[in-house]
Formats: sequence, C-alpha cells, structure tokens
Amino acid sequence: MTNTQIEDIVKGIHDSTYDIETESRLARVGLKDSQDIASILAKYSWLYNLETLETIREAYDSETDPKQKERLRRIYYYLLDGYIETQTAEIEDRIVSFEMNAVVNIDGQEVPYHNLHKLISEEPDYDKRDRIREVMLGVVEQTNPDRMEIIRKRLQTLSDEFGYYSYTAYNSEKKRLDYDLLRSQLQTFMTETEDLYRELMGEWVSKALGRRLGEIGSHHFAYMDRKPEYDQYFPKDKLVETYRRTMAGMGINVDEQSNIHLDTEDRPKKNPRAVCYAPDPPFEVHLVIKPIGGMDDYDAFFHEAGHAQHYGNVRADLDYIYKVIGTSYALTEIYSFLMEFLTMNPNWLVDMLGVPEDKAKEISYYSKLSEFFLLRRYIAKLNYELLFFENPMDEHRNMQLYTNELSSATGFIYPPQNFVNDMDSGYYSADYLRAWITEAMLREHLQSLYGDRWYSNPDVGKFLKDLWSTGETMENEDVARQMGYAPFDVQPLIRQFTMLKDLHSNA
Ligand SMILES: [Zn+2]
Repeated sequence: MTNTQIEDIVKGIHDSTYDIETESRLARVGLKDSQDIASILAKYSWLYNLETLETIREAYDSETDPKQKERLRRIYYYLLDGYIETQTAEIEDRIVSFEMNAVVNIDGQEVPYHNLHKLISEEPDYDKRDRIREVMLGVVEQTNPDRMEIIRKRLQTLSDEFGYYSYTAYNSEKKRLDYDLLRSQLQTFMTETEDLYRELMGEWVSKALGRRLGEIGSHHFAYMDRKPEYDQYFPKDKLVETYRRTMAGMGINVDEQSNIHLDTEDRPKKNPRAVCYAPDPPFEVHLVIKPIGGMDDYDAFFHEAGHAQHYGNVRADLDYIYKVIGTSYALTEIYSFLMEFLTMNPNWLVDMLGVPEDKAKEISYYSKLSEFFLLRRYIAKLNYELLFFENPMDEHRNMQLYTNELSSATGFIYPPQNFVNDMDSGYYSADYLRAWITEAMLREHLQSLYGDRWYSNPDVGKFLKDLWSTGETMENEDVARQMGYAPFDVQPLIRQFTMLKDLHSNA
C-alpha cells in the first residue's frame, strides 16, 4: 500500500466524520426534520468495507516504524468499528423508531415511552412509581430480541471475518487495557467504600422514602435524586453566563473562541439536552444546549463544555488522526468530568451561583452521594459486562448475573429485564471508570497546587490547555504519571468520597 492510498483513507475518515457529525447535529438542534446517516455511509462505502480494512491491516503488519505503526493501528480499529456498525445499523434504527413511537398506558392515561423516566422522577406516590416501572419494562422486553441480535451479529463478524473469538480480548487489544487489572483496582474501591456507602445511602433512603436500602427498586433512586427544591439555585438564564465566568476564572475567554460555536437558540424541534459535536477539531466544535434550568441541566452542560474545551484547544498542526481518534473515550471523559463536577463543588456554588454557604454544602453532599451511587453502579456494570461476554447467549444466566451484580453494588434492586438494555457497547463503562480514576487525580493535583478555588486561577487554564493541546495523543495512564500518580491508583478516588463525612453534618 502506498502512502498516497493511506492518506486518501485518512482524508476519507476526515470527510465522513465531518459529514456524520454535521448530519446528526443538524437533526438534534432542530435545523433538519430527519436524520439520514445511512445515505452518508453509502457515500463512503469505499471506506468502511472489508477491502479497505484488509489493506490497512497489511500495511500495519508490515510497518516497522513504531510511530507509523501506531497511526495505522488507530486507523484500522476506527474503520473496523465503522464496518461493524454498518452491519447492525438497520436493527439499531428499528429500535430507535420503535421506542420513539411507543406509547404506554398508565392508570388510564396514554404516555410516550420516552417520558416515563421523567415521570418516575417526579411521581411522589411510591406505588405509582412501581406501576410506571412495570410498564416501562414491558417496552424494554419487546426490544430485547433485537438487542441480542445486534450482539450476536457483532460477535459473529468479529470472529468469522476477523478472527477475534473473545470480545474482551478484542477490546483489550484495541483499547490497550488490561480489564482484569482495572477490575481488581476497582474492587479495592468497592471494598474500602462499602461501609461508608451503606451508612450514608441507607440514611438517605430512610429519610427520603421511609424505606430500607436493599429492599427497594432502582427506579426509586431517580425520584430521590431529582431534588426539585434546588432548582431555584440553577436558573436557566444564568447558565451560559456561569460558564463564561467560570472559564474566565481559568483565564479562558469563551467569547474569543470563535472555533467553539455556542448554540443556545430555542428552536421547537431542538433536543434540550446539552451535547458537544467536534466535526473537525480544533477548527469546528459545537457546544449545544436549550437551557431549561435545574441542577441536571447545569451538570450536563458543564460535562459537554469539558469535551468542547478539550477538542477546541487541540493543537491545529497535530496529525489529524491524533486530533480525533483516541484508543478509547477514557481520555476526553476526564475533562468532561472535571467540568461537570464543578457543579458539586461547594465553593464554586457560592462563588458562581451565589448559593448560601450552608445550602451549597447540602447540595454538594447529595450530589456527591448520587455520584457515589453512580460510580458503584458503573463498577458493577463493568463486572457484569465482562461476565456477560464469557457466555453471551445464555439469557437466563445473564439476567440473574445482571440483577445480582448491580443490586449488591448499589443496594437498589435491578430488574432482570434490563440485562441487555443497560449495557454500553465496547465496554464504554470501563472508559468512564478510567476517566473517574484519572479525574480524581487531576482535581486533587489542581487543588494541591492552586487551592480549593483552583477554578479561579488563570494558571489552571494554562495547565489544562497544555493537556488539551495534545488531543488524543495520551492515554489516561500517561496523564496520571505526568502528575506523579501511579496509573489505576484508586486512592485519590476513594478520598473524593471519604470527604462526604465532613459534609455530612450539613445534610
Ligand atoms: Zn462525555
């Protein structure tokens, strides 16, 4: 394979990525009535096919220069993922359409399936929440055969066409991650935080619901976690201004970032939830939201702002592959978590939103406890997913495993019907968990260098911009080492939660 051929393929990745990101953005922000990714993929069928994959694979195998080899490696897995996705795109579309149009009956009322999660989180009646959950699971059960079919097809493509007989081995090779090592480190986190979690979560459950942890379904957590009484501190019209002031504190002027397009416009068909698109980093990045206010809205926006700053600050002259193609999503999620977790920092709540100090500590306590739940849930998810792929087609076994793993880690009972619906492809859960570990190190590092109000120091902006400028070059474990931490050390993460004891008196 000649260099020209390889560069044609890189250009194809650039152009198709740009077209796909733009198409989904336009649909999502309400500037297009429907989304047509299939036509774009058809246009690039010369790229996402077996022949191209084979030529890249051959070039990779015969390449001796380590730098070139790494570049080809990233190209290969990117195209392979794209190829596998085109194989199952039709079934995915079918699930999306089915769920979009599913309407259920709750106590004589017709409700769209997509509204059910919100309905549960706002329903004060315990028994009615149970009824909504039952109906919800009925819809999930109808999509499970299609979800299993996607998994079956993907595994078959990987084994029959590429010789990967173990899903875990494939992801381990592609993401360069030892899942057993990660799992054993996370087990340390689980064991060392077990008592603290049981005590604090048990107290919250009994205070909020008059029930006991271990005896109620996971959907009741959505209700506990909603906390509408805090909405007043997170007004919708202050969201963008708060972002502007936060970044200004770090010495970053968002008004000068003409490459990060801020879309806050209110269009009827726009999905209100925050999202970031990076069709061509750093030249074109979009940070999108239709503010509705409330803590959730702020969390989601700051999360996406972290991605936008990461991709918007990538060095312009970096090789395209290292701007866009990471070995996993673990790296960019460090920066989204760093920004998102500001909204549970009591000092930030006082400084940026004028929340009274006592209230700020109370909000912080409950957000942190919710995060504790979420983190333990993700650890259980990864454990479950790794077990799932040891025997993917045994549904009965996997339903039981799902319920056992998630319920014992969180103390909330998980329904077996969600065993395949509540699963991220490619062990995305592990990407998040690596980001969780590294973000805790990064935040601790920033705090030790710049104090509790690190977000108000322009040197932090400089520090972060240096990291962001390297795009997707580094792995999380490189970032950890750079700050003097041992990769996968969960102690900084554990410290983030032992802090809950200090905030406890404010709860
Ligand atoms: Zn993210």
